[in-house]
Amino acid sequence: MDSCDVLIVGGGPAGSSCAWGLRGSGLRIAILDKQVFPRNKVCGGWITPAVLDELRIDPAEYAQGRTLQPITGFRTSYIGGPEIETHYGEPISYGIRRFEFDDYLLNRSGARLLQSQALNHLERSGDEWIVNSRIRCRMLVGAGGTFCPVARFLGAKVSREIVVAAQEAEFEMDERQLTECSISGPVPELFFCSDMKGYGWCFRKHNLLNVGLGRMDQHQLSKHVAEFVTFLKAAGKLPFDAPHALGHAYLLFGVTPRQMVGEAVLLIGDAAGLAYPQSGEGIRPAVESGLLAAKVIVAAKGCYSREKLDCYRTLLSERFGNPALSG
Ligand SMILES: Cc1cc2nc3c(=O)[nH]c(=O)nc-3n(C[C@H](O)[C@H](O)[C@H](O)COP(=O)(O)OP(=O)(O)OC[C@H]3O[C@@H](n4cnc5c(N)ncnc54)[C@H](O)[C@@H]3O)c2cc1C
Repeated sequence: MDSCDVLIVGGGPAGSSCAWGLRGSGLRIAILDKQVFPRNKVCGGWITPAVLDELRIDPAEYAQGRTLQPITGFRTSYIGGPEIETHYGEPISYGIRRFEFDDYLLNRSGARLLQSQALNHLERSGDEWIVNSRIRCRMLVGAGGTFCPVARFLGAKVSREIVVAAQEAEFEMDERQLTECSISGPVPELFFCSDMKGYGWCFRKHNLLNVGLGRMDQHQLSKHVAEFVTFLKAAGKLPFDAPHALGHAYLLFGVTPRQMVGEAVLLIGDAAGLAYPQSGEGIRPAVESGLLAAKVIVAAKGCYSREKLDCYRTLLSERFGNPALSG
C-alpha cells in the first residue's frame, strides 16, 4: 500500500497550486491524475496577471520557450454588430497554452506525481482515505475538474447542475494562415451572443489561434458554434478552416453551489464550481482556491475534521463573494 499525507486528485491549475502552497509544510504531498502531462485541456488559455502574481511567476522567465501573449486591449461587439476597441496601454491579461502552462505548474509544485492513474475507487477506513485500494492518505483534495470523482463522492449531481458549456479549437497557423489572419495578438476579439447568454472569441497567441464560444445554456451549443464560425468566415476574420472544436462544461460560482468541505476532504477549482460568473474565468479561481485550501490544511495541523476544515468556506466567500454556499 502506497501512502502520503495529502492526496490531490487532479493536476490542473487548482491541484498544482494547492501542492505548491503546501511546499515546505513537511507534509508528504502526491498528485494523482488520469492523464500524462503535458496534456491538452479544452480552454481559451486567457489568464489575468493575478494568476502569475499569486504563484510568483516571472512573466519573462515563463516566456522562455513558452507561449505568453500579452493582451493590452479588447475588440468587442455583439455577433454581427458594430465593434468597439478598448486599449489599456499595458498588459491586462495574457494568453497561455494550457498544454505548456499546466505542465509547468505541475512540475514546479514539488509534489510526487502519480500520472496516468484515474481515481476510480474511494473509501473511508478509520481516519484515512483509501484510493483505488492501494493509496492511503489522511487528507484528500478534489481537484479533478467539473466531473471530479471526489465531488461526486460529496454528492455533486452533474447532470442536474446549471453549467457553462463551451467549445474551442486551438491550432498553429501555417505561413499562409499567419499572413491571412487579421486578428491581433495583443487585442483579442470578443463577440457577445444577442441573448447575452454567452460569448465567442477569436484569440491569437503568436502563431496560435484559439476560436471558441461558451454559453450559460448548453442546448444546441454545436449549432451556436457553427453559426459563429460561419459569421467569422463571412466577416473575413477566419479566412481558412479551423479544426473541429472540442467541448467541456464548468460551473459558475454561486449558480449551483456544491458541497466543498467534508471530513478530511476539500474541493478546489472547477471541482468546487468557482468560475467567475461575469467572464467565465476559471483559472484564477482554481489557483486561488488551491492556495486557500493549502492554508487551511497547514493550519489544521493534522486534525482534518470537517469542523476544522470548515473555515475554507468562509475564506472562499470572503474572496469570491457570498452566495448561498451549501454544505
Ligand atoms: C472552452 C473553454 C474555454 C475556457 N477558457 C478559459 C479561459 O480562457 N480562461 C480561464 O481562466 N478559464 C477558462 N475556462 C475554464 C478553465 O478551463 C477551468 O476553470 C480550469 O481549467 C479549472 O482548473 P482545474 O484545475 O480546477 O481543473 P482542470 O484544469 O479541469 O484539471 C482537472 C484535472 O483532473 C484530472 N482528472 C479528472 N478526473 C480524474 C480522475 N477520475 N482521476 C484522476 N484525475 C482526474 C484531469 O485529467 C485534469 O488534469 C474555459 C473552459 C472551457 C470549457
